[in-house]
Amino acid sequence: MKRIAILGSTGSIGTQTLNVVRRHPDDFSVEVLCAGNNAELLIQQALEFDPNTVVIANKALYTQVQEALSTTDIKVFAGEESICDVMEMGSIDIVVAAIVGFAGLRPTMRAIEHGKTIALANKETMVVAGEIVTRTAFEHHTPILPVDSEHSAIFQCLEPGVAIDKILLTASGGPFFGKNRSELQHVSLDQALNHPNWKMGRKVTIDSASLMNKGLEVIEAKWLFGVNVDQIEVLVHPQSVVHSMVQYADGSIKAQIGTATMETPIQYALTYPNRIESHLPRFSFLDHPQLTFHRPDTSTFRCLDLAYQAIRKGGNMPCIMNAANEVAVQRFIDGKIQFLEIADFVETAMNRSLFIAQPTLDDLFATDSEVRGCCATQ
Ligand code: NDP
Repeated sequence: MKRIAILGSTGSIGTQTLNVVRRHPDDFSVEVLCAGNNAELLIQQALEFDPNTVVIANKALYTQVQEALSTTDIKVFAGEESICDVMEMGSIDIVVAAIVGFAGLRPTMRAIEHGKTIALANKETMVVAGEIVTRTAFEHHTPILPVDSEHSAIFQCLEPGVAIDKILLTASGGPFFGKNRSELQHVSLDQALNHPNWKMGRKVTIDSASLMNKGLEVIEAKWLFGVNVDQIEVLVHPQSVVHSMVQYADGSIKAQIGTATMETPIQYALTYPNRIESHLPRFSFLDHPQLTFHRPDTSTFRCLDLAYQAIRKGGNMPCIMNAANEVAVQRFIDGKIQFLEIADFVETAMNRSLFIAQPTLDDLFATDSEVRGCCATQ
């Protein structure tokens, strides 16, 4: 029985993790649930899964959660510092890191420092601080297992001890695949949120539409698999059947294939190195007679290029890019900028912000707040 802590239990990955737990009550138990603002769903989850502890990041919601759970033995805390503190609990075996954005970095780092196996969905943690995160994980013998479907695919294609030639990272292309800049000039939020293959949280869905998501994943792959960024090639594959591939020195390519559901990679991260039964519908090639692959259009979807630039520059540049992207996506959601302006916004921040070649973790926290501060006046 693995005891799980879920950071971001009320989100898309969090709720799908609980679906996996619900189907396998003999394999998993829920030890900790952490959420941001959705007190109602957190309470409902706590009453169903009976964890040891729940934490709500928004302190103003503490009383609501505490009162709703007052007839249970469940401990209730509030605030982002409490989320970090509970990561030290000895009873946690594995942490599903599924908070969205930079906010996931601090609790994930605390869990890594305390040797908790990480099932990593929160790609921004790796983007912002990949070098520090992987070094800390190495020092504390903490396994980091990918949840992102592409990275889970790559992980499943790796052969222990065998160097790889390159990673072929697939991208669905999102709702705007095939469109040019003039067609994207005035696209609406609803159009951007209308992903053809995946149902995800809003931020990652907008990132998918802009291809920033693929840029973040390139950086995540570099750190997770210790490869040079030039060894990572992005291929647009609109059917989302091949979740990613690895090529070896002899030219052989291994691919991982399956239906587009996050429950499979979540379950694999939770059961690794074992595989257990899944009752999800089986994939059939006969339902997918045509699989296509295309070069990404980086002159339209400029965010992918910006991410390559950021990781090639290194230092705090991916952190600058990530902070600006988080602000830009929120502005697009709030109707304050157009879709194509997301890339302009990110590029401006990358050009203007103070570059630090060898940032410490504190430098990265300072960079993140500085960029958000500057963006506020942009
Ligand atoms: P959602 O927006 O659906 O969920 C985000 C979760 O984070 C919610 O539980 C939210 O709580 C919580 N949260 C947000 N801010 C804070 C905070 N400051 N403190 C504590 N909790 C907070 O996102 P997704 O589940 O879609 O994505 C989560 C991560 O996984 C992202 O990094 C994404 O890129 C990655 N990912 C997602 C995939 C997917 O299919 N969804 C696929 C691959 C990767 P609340 O709702 O209560 O406010």
